[in-house]
Amino acid sequence: VGVFYRPLEKIAAVIETYPRGIAGFRRYQELLATEPEIADSPDAVEAPALRGNISFEGVSFEYDADRPIIRDIDLTIRAGETIAFVGPSGAGKTTLLALLPRFYEPTSGRITVDGMELSHMRLNSLRKQIGLVSQDVFLFGGTLRENIAYGRLGATDSEIRSAAAQAQLTALIDSLPEGLDTIVGERGVMLSGGQKQRVAIARAFLKNPPILILDEATSALDSHTEREIQDSLDRLAVGRTTLIIAHRLGTIRNADRIVVLNQGSIAEIGNHEELLGRGGIYAQLAS
Ligand code: ATP
Repeated sequence: VGVFYRPLEKIAAVIETYPRGIAGFRRYQELLATEPEIADSPDAVEAPALRGNISFEGVSFEYDADRPIIRDIDLTIRAGETIAFVGPSGAGKTTLLALLPRFYEPTSGRITVDGMELSHMRLNSLRKQIGLVSQDVFLFGGTLRENIAYGRLGATDSEIRSAAAQAQLTALIDSLPEGLDTIVGERGVMLSGGQKQRVAIARAFLKNPPILILDEATSALDSHTEREIQDSLDRLAVGRTTLIIAHRLGTIRNADRIVVLNQGSIAEIGNHEELLGRGGIYAQLAS
């Protein structure tokens, strides 16, 4: 599900970059058309600076009536914890984590961050504090600089360069004819899958959110690139509450906890060793 494209500030970024461009406008329409109709309640308040203690309390969700996808999830995540979600395709991993930036609302139950219910926070003030590094990286036709700055509008040149360096983009920038000002995307330099992921990571460093959602790529990169990207992601996760949608098990061994989802419920929870020792679904997946 491509649910991770649509924070409101991204729409703003597109409008700012392409006030007249037809491509930008189309993209804007597209984003707007798919933006779920979630409005701030009249008494919603600005979210405070979040630490990232997350609590799912009896959370259920269904896209279509009477077809539950998430079933009565109770889960408390400590600020700073790295927690990975695994399970068979269709188990509900992506859906569960899409509830956090409120792309969808729970059908029942509630989700709190630092004790405050999500639906009581203004959507924008919540989403500003959640970084999403998705496998579907959205690059628009503009400069590399603009594409990185998308993480936080108004970032300075040195902030952009520092984020690029942390995402290991410096070698690419140095190799491009116009560096950060090189046009990328369809009308410019095409970036590889690994380079696009680095742009997404740079955006997240720039945004510097307390909460991070990583939607791990399903498509394989070469092992050297994969290791470099994993390094950047590990550094990005430091000091943040990090929730990983894991499609492969190799990269999540070091997660503090692993949640095994099955048909929308938590089947097992523990760290890698504990789950292996239990001889259940995780042990089977890992063998
Ligand atoms: P994968 O590992 O394949 O990405 P997942 O565990 O992330 O799977 P989800 O993508 O959350 O699982 O999907 C859970 C279920 O919800 C699936 O049966 C899927 O078909 C269904 N689903 C996902 N998005 C929608 C939608 N927008 N409308 C209706 N059903 C949906």
